[in-house]
Amino acid sequence: MNEQQVACKKCGNCCRKGGPALHTADIDRVKNGEIALSSLITIRKGELAHNPQSGKLQPVSVELVKIVGTGRQWDCCYYDESACCTIYEHRPLACRVLKCWDTSEILALVEKDTLSRFDILEEDDPLVPVIHEHQRLCPSYDFQKYFIEKTELTPAEKKKLEKMVREDLRFRTRVIEDFQLKLS
Ligand code: SF4
Ligand code: SF4
Repeated sequence: MNEQQVACKKCGNCCRKGGPALHTADIDRVKNGEIALSSLITIRKGELAHNPQSGKLQPVSVELVKIVGTGRQWDCCYYDESACCTIYEHRPLACRVLKCWDTSEILALVEKDTLSRFDILEEDDPLVPVIHEHQRLCPSYDFQKYFIEKTELTPAEKKKLEKMVREDLRFRTRVIEDFQLKLS
């Protein structure tokens, strides 16, 4: 804790480190469009993300829906150099509790009460069965084994991993075309 600092200086450093994950408290902001669906990405359970509690890259324990970055950089897509947050009045819970000088509150939120795609989409949304199909055909890889522990893969495992990646890309390409979605 930085006892010198007691208030936000609006420097934007936290917004340049990536968009936040959404929590159940944010559901109305998404449902009424204050946070646009097109600004969201999903990290599926088991996929890798930087965990602020451990400070390491590790598989997430729950599905996370996050505000996307600007593309080439980590900046949150709602961050604007001149205006800072372009959705300030509607910014999500994680941004409201973030105090860079005392991170206890934001760290307590990590992977707690988070929103998933199923909380956001209506039950009859045509994407719901697609999400289930994707999960069935392309389950999350064993990232812990392949990328964290860096276990030496056998030729058979390499082949299996390549096949999984190709199938996943094929699936995503089809869905992007069928539903006219953005790649993110
Ligand atoms: S919380 Fe800290 S890093 Fe974020 S804008 Fe305020 S002063 Fe900058
Ligand atoms: S939503 Fe706003 S406050 Fe939150 S990270 Fe993005 S720009 Fe910053």
